[in-house]
Amino acid sequence: MVTLSGWIYKKREFGKKIFVDLRAMGNREYLGRIIQVVFEASRMDTEEFKTVKKLGQESFIVVSGEFVENVRAPGGVELHVDKLISYYLAEKPYPLAKKKHSPDFLLDVRHLTIRSPRYQRIWLIREALVDYLREWYKKDGWIEVYPPILTFTACEGGATLFVLDYFGQEGYLSQSAQLYLEVMIYSLGKVFSLTPSFRAEKSRTRRHLTEYWHFEAEAAMYRFEDILKAQEESLAYAIRKLLENDRFYEWIKEFRGDMDILNNIKAPFPRITYDEAIQILQTKGINIEWGEDLGADEERILSEEMETPFFITLYPTEVKAFYVKAYEEDEKRCYSADMMAPEGYGEITTGGEREDRIDVLIERIKREGFDPQNYFWYLDIRKYGSVPHSGFGLGIERTLMWILKLDHIRETIPFPRLARRKTLI
Ligand code: ATP
Ligand code: MG
Repeated sequence: MVTLSGWIYKKREFGKKIFVDLRAMGNREYLGRIIQVVFEASRMDTEEFKTVKKLGQESFIVVSGEFVENVRAPGGVELHVDKLISYYLAEKPYPLAKKKHSPDFLLDVRHLTIRSPRYQRIWLIREALVDYLREWYKKDGWIEVYPPILTFTACEGGATLFVLDYFGQEGYLSQSAQLYLEVMIYSLGKVFSLTPSFRAEKSRTRRHLTEYWHFEAEAAMYRFEDILKAQEESLAYAIRKLLENDRFYEWIKEFRGDMDILNNIKAPFPRITYDEAIQILQTKGINIEWGEDLGADEERILSEEMETPFFITLYPTEVKAFYVKAYEEDEKRCYSADMMAPEGYGEITTGGEREDRIDVLIERIKREGFDPQNYFWYLDIRKYGSVPHSGFGLGIERTLMWILKLDHIRETIPFPRLARRKTLI
């Protein structure tokens, strides 16, 4: 005899027999799937059977019975119910009972949409992806730290800042933890953090949220090549671990279809220089000049035919943030690299080595239109035992979007914040 509880996902009635697809809870193994629950009039109390007839989608039930093998049931077993112990009614009709809805409607009722087995799977894979990234960094000797979200310095350019009133002083929602991680390396050596980052993105694309989860790492005495290595090894590790889990493997396969690219993921990833990327694009007839940043379209074209993530290195210093280290042989180029996901997905990380020269930093901060005085603490750390250091930031949603081959980033996070939508939930 087992007791099982959960929400009714689907119900089919055949006279004296009722089949329920249950989104069971209480055990991790139940999540992301449905369990077939069979009510048979001859097996249970008449009143209880009548009650089951009344229950609509998303009603909650607690039942007891016996698991019986049935090859036609999802997962090969079904529960034959002896007793309806208790229930919590859902109002009818359930707004999502119909099959087809527009993306906008689904976002309007996001508080309900997130219940489906499809979303349960996305949340579970997301949790595991983060766990495995964390696991790699901890094993490799990095320390997790907790930088602030309320900030007083911009990190990634003024255009995407969310400004707020901090008791009369201008404050911002964090765009990146990076400047604080650079401070923390002088306490702990190798650090990482997972925080939300906020970007007032004007562009309405399939890969931009205004609030996303940012996995960032920074290490003392790491040079450019060292930080590329950490990125490729940690990502390859996290994906390998996901695929080692049979359940995740099956689900990911259902989402993306082809598993070859994920199965074959292996560090090191290929590297091409920004100059090479420009040449490739020009050969393909794209109108782009040296010095321009690569946008979503260019990244799509470059990554479309790739079968592995890869790095684009040595970007023009002008297109990158003020803190990137200029390339010694040619200051127009810098030690910055973006990791591109293949299959057209494009950028999932940006990283590189950091500039150490205070005067250069001050000039660059001014050029961004910021006041160097606000960065006093950041500049100060260059004075006391400053060492070469490197770091990167990875977008969790972008990475998950590629792993699952989803066509919109809104699918990767329960409550997406999107520039084009007034968000009410
Ligand atoms: P993009 O050029 O794609 O707008 P970015 O270069 O401005 O991104 P970075 O500052 O390099 O972004 O941020 C590091 C990582 O954070 C990116 O590589 C990406 O994975 C993720 N990221 C950045 N902006 C967003 C966003 N608006 N929504 C979701 N993820 C983002
Ligand atoms: Mg970037």
